[in-house]
Amino acid sequence: MNSEKYILALDQGTTSSRSFIYDSDFKVTAFDQKEFKQIFPRSGWVEHDPETIWKSQLATAKMAIEKGHIPVKSIAGIGITNQRETTVVWNRETGKPLYNAIVWQDRRTSAYCKSLKSRGRSLAITEKTGLVIDPYFSATKIKWILDNVTDAKELAQQGKLAFGTIDSWLIWKLTKGKSHITDYSNASRTLLFNIRTLEWDVELLALFGIPVSMMPKVVNNSGVLAHTDESILGHSIPITGIAGDQQAALFGQLCIDPGMAKCTYGTGCFMMLNTGSEIVSSSHKMLSTIGWKLGNETTYALEGSVFVGGALIQWLRDELGFISEAHESEIIASEAPNNGGVYFVPALTGLGAPYWDPDARGAIFGIKRSTTKAELTRAALESIAFQVNDLLNAMSQDLEVPIQQLRADGGAAANKILLQFQSDISKIAVLKPSLLETTSMGVAFFASMGAGIHTLDTLKDKWLLDQEFNPDMPLKTVKAHLKNWQEAINRSLGWATATTEINE
Ligand code: ADP
Repeated sequence: MNSEKYILALDQGTTSSRSFIYDSDFKVTAFDQKEFKQIFPRSGWVEHDPETIWKSQLATAKMAIEKGHIPVKSIAGIGITNQRETTVVWNRETGKPLYNAIVWQDRRTSAYCKSLKSRGRSLAITEKTGLVIDPYFSATKIKWILDNVTDAKELAQQGKLAFGTIDSWLIWKLTKGKSHITDYSNASRTLLFNIRTLEWDVELLALFGIPVSMMPKVVNNSGVLAHTDESILGHSIPITGIAGDQQAALFGQLCIDPGMAKCTYGTGCFMMLNTGSEIVSSSHKMLSTIGWKLGNETTYALEGSVFVGGALIQWLRDELGFISEAHESEIIASEAPNNGGVYFVPALTGLGAPYWDPDARGAIFGIKRSTTKAELTRAALESIAFQVNDLLNAMSQDLEVPIQQLRADGGAAANKILLQFQSDISKIAVLKPSLLETTSMGVAFFASMGAGIHTLDTLKDKWLLDQEFNPDMPLKTVKAHLKNWQEAINRSLGWATATTEINE
């Protein structure tokens, strides 16, 4: 008789729903994935169908259970990690969403955000939430639904509507409407949660015209948080872990002590630094956020993101035809000993932290008659590392101590040239774990603690090093690179406003 206890980790991402079954040693026993439709009703609008999200997630969970031949009763806990900020509003009585999920990338509330800023609201909002006023976060998306869907405001006032990020929505479905909850990490991305008092902020709710009755109860990241309805998987299973995707990755990288940082090198790059029980307010436009809450202890984090990371390699592949697969970028770049003086600024959609310039545009500097494809490819990879280095510098200045080590994950972390260059210019050890699925692993860690299988102590040996990159570049060269990068950035800022677009 197999007495193994499993964790089912649901990873609901922006483009696909995935389910992992982990054994108690965190080996992946089974996995399934389903992509789903992206809905673009207008330029700058991005939506998902909440029912499709639910169905795709449930289908992958069932398929993973089937593939792994796992008796449902041996699943000791479910962990849920999710695309953050994406907003669903539904009717509590019918369980039906009022509108599609408005995805984190959606920019429809830009004008409203600008008006809030011009009314001088920025400082007070940042002080309470750790965030900046931006369409990215949930608050203005909820307001948009209440303002634009027939009868929504009235229903909300009558207490008939529920708001949730994707974790809440999935838990509502899994429990057949019994639990309307979210965790601290997801709550901290709504622009409505006070990260100091750890409560929904009544002033902010009033500012956005959102009744508090819509908000989910906020629960810890780990514990017995809810129970699935037995009709869903044939047996009631406790939900024992919840975390937003980036926080889950920080935990999955076991960055559990203050000063530890991870960077996920995916389409964009997401860096997060554990700041312990302290909220570090950034002077460099980083976001302060909640990492997790375990027992009575809240762990905070600083977060910064780069819009175009691995996406630049996609661009080399799809638009320039330099490569046919992303991993070839490493082979081609290795043909050049250095970048040959070429600097690539990947401001294809403006620049994020610490520059925050929506009008910056992409540029390649230093091209000569002798410039090769290998040098251009190397420069593209290096530009990802330069951007991450800017985040690292901003965060170490905010923290007032240098960051010693960076744990890397995400698809582009497979690239050795990229990670070595990161280590070189940031003068930091870059560590790549053997399992790059740190997001689902992180929520599996939370869930295994909640299910009583592991404690923080017994998790400590579950993070396994695959490769370590250490600085190996003369200081003089590092300095030259960083100066050149800054020159390139300066020449790219504001390009869209300084020039006239040609549409003829
Ligand atoms: P996401 O979760 O954001 O979709 P992934 O973590 O799956 O992204 O990583 C995919 C991204 O990483 C793509 O943008 C791809 O171009 C890039 N990528 C994948 N493999 C490599 C590689 N070996 N070298 C450089 N970039 C890579």
